[in-house]
Amino acid sequence: MQQVKYRRVLLKISGEGLCRSGGFGIDGEVLGRMAGEIKLVADLGVQLCIVVGGGNIIRGSSLAKDSPIEEVTGHYMGMLATVINALAIQDTLESLGLVTRVQSAVAVDRVCEPFTRRRALRHLEKGRIVIFAGGTGNPFVTTDSGGALRASEMQADVLLKATKVDGVYTADPMKDPNARKIDRLTYREVIDKRLAVMDVAAVELCRQNRVPIIVFNLYTPGNMRAVCEGRDIGTRIDGD
Ligand code: UDP
Repeated sequence: MQQVKYRRVLLKISGEGLCRSGGFGIDGEVLGRMAGEIKLVADLGVQLCIVVGGGNIIRGSSLAKDSPIEEVTGHYMGMLATVINALAIQDTLESLGLVTRVQSAVAVDRVCEPFTRRRALRHLEKGRIVIFAGGTGNPFVTTDSGGALRASEMQADVLLKATKVDGVYTADPMKDPNARKIDRLTYREVIDKRLAVMDVAAVELCRQNRVPIIVFNLYTPGNMRAVCEGRDIGTRIDGD
């Protein structure tokens, strides 16, 4: 294994990371670029798990607002959307020669394994990338909470939160030219200032289980690999 800072990493990718900016669904080229970045990390020998969102297909709460669909049904639909994304990531990674398994928190046994912690650990030990779908398996929460949960139970050394910007900013850098990037935050600061990083529940779970979070730009080539090698990239959230 090459020199790396983290032995086991959980990568949280939002559904919008699978489509073009402002788009919908899955874009093969965007997916291919993301898979290339993941391969650079896998090639370091890092044990890698991925939690994928579903916002590029369905977000339960917005769907319920604009339709007769009950909110809870919308959330289950959102969880199923993450399974679709997980299968897309699986095939793309395997096309690059990586070995993967998908495990879902909602039962869809024709297409993937159910989530089983011990089995997932075994996959990692064998060098397989484990893609977790279905979020937490429960409605009314998001895949950020799923990411924090899986990172905690898999005892990941870090949760890497992939975004389209370089980290956490004082304001939305897409809208405010004076927005400044913050290099380091405590869990408390993120929670108390309600910084739009991840759900409060997700940050709190990482705090309780001492899982550091690094918010970084997945779309800068080589960035995720550099994070795993220990370079100071993005915004690091940890400590009291
Ligand atoms: N979802 C859920 N429980 C979970 C994870 C996700 O009900 O544990 C639903 C929820 O409706 C959410 C949708 O699935 O809006 C898609 O997930 P998310 O919004 O987290 O996707 P992302 O923003 O990461 O693409």
